[in-house]
This record gives sequence, structure tokens and C-alpha cells, in this order.
Amino acid sequence: MRKPVTPSPFAKGTTNRFGRSSLGHGFSASNSNARVSPPYQPAKAPAAAGQQNPANMGLNSERSRGMMVERLRNQGIQDPRVLNALMAVPRHLFVDQGLASRAYEDAALPIGYGQTISQPWVVARMISAVCQNRAPAKVLEIGAGCGYQAAVLAQLVNEVHTIERVRGLYELARTHLRTLKLINRIRLSFGDGMKGLPDLAPFDAIVVAAAGIEIPQALLEQLSPGGRLIAPEGAAAQRLVLVERVGAASWHREELESVRFVPLRAGTQP
Ligand code: SAH
Repeated sequence: MRKPVTPSPFAKGTTNRFGRSSLGHGFSASNSNARVSPPYQPAKAPAAAGQQNPANMGLNSERSRGMMVERLRNQGIQDPRVLNALMAVPRHLFVDQGLASRAYEDAALPIGYGQTISQPWVVARMISAVCQNRAPAKVLEIGAGCGYQAAVLAQLVNEVHTIERVRGLYELARTHLRTLKLINRIRLSFGDGMKGLPDLAPFDAIVVAAAGIEIPQALLEQLSPGGRLIAPEGAAAQRLVLVERVGAASWHREELESVRFVPLRAGTQP
């Protein structure tokens, strides 16, 4: 279903101007960045990384990643660019060592500060949606977290910008991206992503990794013509919403699957 997005009265006619817990604290099913209504469930859970000794992850991770990608394919992710990107990024390096053995399960995992690394399916779904029938050259991500999704995006997009509002996570993402030698290809900012990056706009695609009650108008204004934004929207009940900019002041929106993300919050957490 597609219907036009009504810009908020506040932003109408305006131009582009426009808050450490221990690891795992606050992690629960209610902030798991997990899909709520899966379109497909494998008959049997694949025996994946969960059974491996974390010490062997480096050696076995490629195989586990291959299984993860195969699972994503079975769950309807078809874009080879996206599947290749997920195959290329060592997700186990983005989580605490104690969780590395679970890194290739289709699950959100705690990254500290009450936040989570998004489950692989959600990452694949969001990137596939904004890249469908197009090859975005410049992308903005809101909510860098540990940096995983930005690293995946960087496999298929030339210019990746990402913003994180929690200082400790911003630093964690920077460490991960440095280790993987991706820091020069991904511009990581500390700040409130609800404002976007007006000075660097427009973006061909915007991927929001945390759920707000509504999509910030500032982000819609920073989309290129024909560009796409995907974001979880809602509070207790959330849905992925795909928005396409179809004119200077018109956007079309489409509601996708039910999901559960951590909240999009204003301001920063030092
Ligand atoms: N992209 C991450 C997902 C991290 S979870 C991944 O690859 O797994 C979502 C992140 O959004 C959290 O780190 C949270 O701190 C951050 N966040 C929430 N509101 C934000 C805002 N207004 N600006 C920037 N980041 C925000």
C-alpha cells in the first residue's frame, strides 16, 4: 500500500536547516531489533555458530557466515549485492567476545548501553529495500551502534555517513571500523541523528536503525529526488516504513513488516 506522507506542519515550507551500563544491561525482547512477524520460518533451526567454541570463530566464521547468508536467501533476501556484503563483514568482531559464538544466529545481541546490534535479517531487509532497482552512491545511517550495519553498507555504497548519539557506542564503532580498516570509507559522527546531516545532504538513501513515533521531517528533507528512506516507526507496535521522495515536497510511503527496535531518542548521551 502506498500513500503520500503528509509533512508535519512544523517543517512545512522550511528548507533543509533545521543520552555506561554494563554489557547487556537493558537488553530484553522488547529492544531486540528483531522482526516480529517473520514471513518465513525454517523448519529446523540450522546448527550454526552457536555450537562453536568462540576461540575458533576466526577459523569458522566464514562457514558460519555462509550459512547465515544461505538462511537469509531462504528468508527472501535476493539482492546479490546485499548477500555478498553480509558475507564480507565479520559480524563476530562487532560483538563482545563472549557473544561471538552467537554472532551468526539471526538474532539481535547486546552491545552495551542498553542497545543492540540489529539482527542480520533486519540489516539485509533494510538495505535491500533502499537499494531496490537503484545503486545509491551516498547513504546516511542513523544509529551506528557498534558499526555493523555501516560496515555492511560500505561494501556496496561508495560514501557512507553514520551518526550515533551515545558517546561510548560512537567510540566502540570507531574502534571496530578502524580494526577492519573501514574508518576511512565511513564518516562516523557523534550527534543527534534525528537532525540528520543537513550540511552534507542530500543522500540517495537513509537507513534509520532506531524507532521513533514518526519519521523526523528533517530526514525526509535530506533525501535526494528519487531517494529512499527506511525506518522503523511506532512505540510498542512498530513497522518498517519505506519512504521514497517523489518530488520537492512529496514523499510516498509503504508499510512493510512488523519489527521491534530500540527507541530513537533526541539529543546525545555523553
Ligand atoms: N546500526 C546498528 C544498530 C544499533 S541499535 C547495527 O549495525 O547493529 C540503534 C542505535 O541507534 C543505538 O546505538 C542508539 O544509541 C542509536 N540511536 C538512537 N537514537 C539516535 C539518534 N537520535 N541519533 C543517533 N543515534 C541514535
